[in-house]
Amino acid sequence: MKFIEQNALQYLSVKLPLLGAFLMLAVLVIQWALDFNFVPQQYAPFIVGTVLPALSLLGRKIAQPSLHQPLGFVAVTAGHSNSDPGAVNGKIKESELVTNFRNAVVHYLREAGITTRTDGTGTQNDPLSSALKLIKGSSTAVEFHMNAAASKQANGIETIALPGDKKLAQDLSVAVATALGSRLRGDNGWIDQSKSARGSLAYINAGGLIVELGFISNEAELAAFQARYWIAAKAVAKVLIEYEKGA
Ligand SMILES: [Zn+2]
Repeated sequence: MKFIEQNALQYLSVKLPLLGAFLMLAVLVIQWALDFNFVPQQYAPFIVGTVLPALSLLGRKIAQPSLHQPLGFVAVTAGHSNSDPGAVNGKIKESELVTNFRNAVVHYLREAGITTRTDGTGTQNDPLSSALKLIKGSSTAVEFHMNAAASKQANGIETIALPGDKKLAQDLSVAVATALGSRLRGDNGWIDQSKSARGSLAYINAGGLIVELGFISNEAELAAFQARYWIAAKAVAKVLIEYEKGA
């Protein structure tokens, strides 16, 4: 026989009936000592048959958050792929910058003991289809991109997400903007995907968040990213770690 629960006593569904049984025993002992019946004997089977299972059920229903380990994993993926560079600035490709960023974020998450899944390791950057598959079963899914615009002045950080992830989206954008010295776009860094004209909507509709790490077309933002992306990645990981541990 193999026991599946090593530490059953930590559960209220076990504790409450044990407490109930102990109290019943105490009543029986007191009745015997005083030779007086508080609980007529014919009610004993009713109490054993009904009250104890009810206590067990109650124990099952009362949440014990401290007993719950975080389930699932964080899916961390890089936009575009090895065959699709995304936006470019001269020889610099969005797909390569965000792959480096993914690797740095994953490094810090794993250091903190968070389970992660990615769309590749090292320079590998699998296409969107593999990122989409990773969302299923994940507790959080983030994908990194860089913006591009015809105007070289366009700048700022934004995270595109569903309204339910507004707070997390804003926290992620603030982390990146603070590390890189950039401003926030949208609603304090959040872009409501229903109001976004961008592509990759399938990723967000499936529950993922897209973090735009700045404009590759803006020389100052590109330089800041290249100089400090590890600091930004560490800040992003910190937000995700706090989110996972609090979830
Ligand atoms: Zn992109």
